[in-house]
Amino acid sequence: MRKLKISVLIIGAGPAGLSCALWLVNQGYKPVVLERASHLCGMLRFNHHENDWLLGFPGYTGQAIGAKFLEHIQSKNLDIITSALLTSITQREHGFLVSFTESGRQIQIESDYLVIASGMRPRTPVELIKLSTQYPQNFLVGAGELYLDDFKVGQRVALLGGGDNAFENAFHLALRGVFVDIYCRAEARARDEWQARCKENPNISIHLHANIGQFSVSEKEVNFVENGELRLADVVVVMYGYEPNTDALRKISPWLDTAINEKGFIKVNVYQQAPIERVYAIGDVTDRPLPCLPSAIGQGSLAAKAIVLDAEGMLQ
Ligand SMILES: Cc1cc2nc3c(=O)[nH]c(=O)nc-3n(C[C@H](O)[C@H](O)[C@H](O)COP(=O)(O)OP(=O)(O)OC[C@H]3O[C@@H](n4cnc5c(N)ncnc54)[C@H](O)[C@@H]3O)c2cc1C
Repeated sequence: MRKLKISVLIIGAGPAGLSCALWLVNQGYKPVVLERASHLCGMLRFNHHENDWLLGFPGYTGQAIGAKFLEHIQSKNLDIITSALLTSITQREHGFLVSFTESGRQIQIESDYLVIASGMRPRTPVELIKLSTQYPQNFLVGAGELYLDDFKVGQRVALLGGGDNAFENAFHLALRGVFVDIYCRAEARARDEWQARCKENPNISIHLHANIGQFSVSEKEVNFVENGELRLADVVVVMYGYEPNTDALRKISPWLDTAINEKGFIKVNVYQQAPIERVYAIGDVTDRPLPCLPSAIGQGSLAAKAIVLDAEGMLQ
């Protein structure tokens, strides 16, 4: 078994984790970043929309911004371990012992500080996750899977969800001549402007209090039942919102429970410190309102600065 001793271990190589690592490296630290996936940049990898929300990157897609982040990070010779599967995190007197496997190898890292940057994932019932693996053309999970240009005039889409994401995407699909049925489990939660636009569009039907299930696929068509009625669609898009990636961490480190709120997010103070000594949390996994890319990057740098001050005994 390989063993390492370091000062800061960061879990998650999304924008928050990479930003934290960058700031630490620039201050003379040698953090290690553990990433569960085989790729870096987290949710940015699934954002193919051109945006105008990050200062200095007009017209870039999330993926293009991610490529710039990687270029910067690679110039720093940072230690990032991908496809890392955490198996345990135990508390020590002055830090943590983190065990994980990578390509079948078992590795242990002793670290003074732990930074959790594990982000969020689309909230999806297990049945729909299985179907999306089995029929990837017919079931798309989360906004990141939906490429508007892939749809053709006359196609039928069942959009599951009642929030802004569902209504906004339904509207853009309908503009392309796609017939969209939006199925909301209760009332719609989307902003009034999106609801109004969708209600006015003849290509969109909105189903409220829709109890749906019994999905099956035949001849490339999806059949399912809504409140006892048989429905058909070419593609089912699931947009039930997002949930924090903390359940896997809780399973292997139950002591983290005291730092997690009722929705599964990690509680933090103004310095991104969780209510457990030497544990910090940053980005979408924290209980902060309105998560987004710029705030994830900002929280990463803030945590790095706070850790450096704390290590020097200067954090109040
Ligand atoms: C389609 C789409 C459109 C978006 N549009 C915008 C927008 O217009 N403007 C905007 O500001 N933001 C947008 N966002 C949101 C933005 O991408 C996120 O706010 C940002 O990526 C959050 O960064 P993060 O590092 O906190 O989390 P993530 O990007 O989620 O990264 C977390 C990383 O942690 C890893 N991880 C999870 N669990 C573990 C574990 N147990 N062990 C190791 N690694 C783990 C994940 O694999 C992932 O790589 C969009 C996101 C999507 C998907």
